[in-house]
Amino acid sequence: MTGISEKIVLITGASSGIGEATVRELAAAGARLFIGARRADRLKALAEELGERVAWRELDVTDAASFEAFADAAEARFGGIDVLVNNAGVMPLSPLAALKRDEWKRMIDVNIHGVLNGIAAVLPRFIAKGNGHVVNVASVGAHLVLPTAAVYCGTKYAVWAITEGLRQEHENIRSTIISPGVTATELGDDISDPQVAAALKDWRQKSLTPDAIARAIRYALEQPDGVDVNEIIVRPTAAN
Ligand code: NDP
Repeated sequence: MTGISEKIVLITGASSGIGEATVRELAAAGARLFIGARRADRLKALAEELGERVAWRELDVTDAASFEAFADAAEARFGGIDVLVNNAGVMPLSPLAALKRDEWKRMIDVNIHGVLNGIAAVLPRFIAKGNGHVVNVASVGAHLVLPTAAVYCGTKYAVWAITEGLRQEHENIRSTIISPGVTATELGDDISDPQVAAALKDWRQKSLTPDAIARAIRYALEQPDGVDVNEIIVRPTAAN
């Protein structure tokens, strides 16, 4: 099983940004896609636009039962699962001294537990069939830490480590880390600190568009069985 048009791909965080762009990119390549997020209206509109090879279900990645039901529904709809793209993420940046414990918890819940819930939902199925591919969207923040981003970067370092651990433990399951640089999406629109929100707006002047990340994900999926793209880092030329 090699061709992308034969693959059944699950994508989380498909209601906006990089997730939505990846749905469009992989749909154009002929994959069958099962897409999830909390905003059902956006998923429904995207699936209706792209046709019957795209199906959707509401998903909260922080809820293990919701993720299991999502994977079950994908199998029921398409007859199997070949790839999981763990893309959902949140980034409410703030300085540590602001003690925004609820925001720290939300980042850890979505960015780390969400990825683990996804792995738990597909790994037994991949082991049973002897192959599979997990693509985890980390960040350049999995390689560097910036002020106000300590917790966010901590979650992305964790995603990097979890993906690498998965790769080492399973010979027949491909594991890919996708590490985007600054990309123009809705990420960080919920930053509650006005100064940090303004700094992000400035930083975004140099953004990639999300299709650049979608193409990197497509590249990893397109490789023949036996070729595991371990990590792709994609930055705009003008930013670190
Ligand atoms: P967006 O905010 O546009 O997309 C985030 C997606 O995550 C949305 O579809 C949102 O859907 C979904 N999501 C959030 N919480 C949950 C949840 N509990 N359950 C299910 N889905 C959830 O941002 P991006 O497209 O930029 O983010 C995608 C990934 O890329 C993230 O992991 C992010 O950390 C990473 N990234 C982004 C960069 C950037 O500069 N934009 C740079 C580096 C990494 P909904 O609200 O409908 O649930």
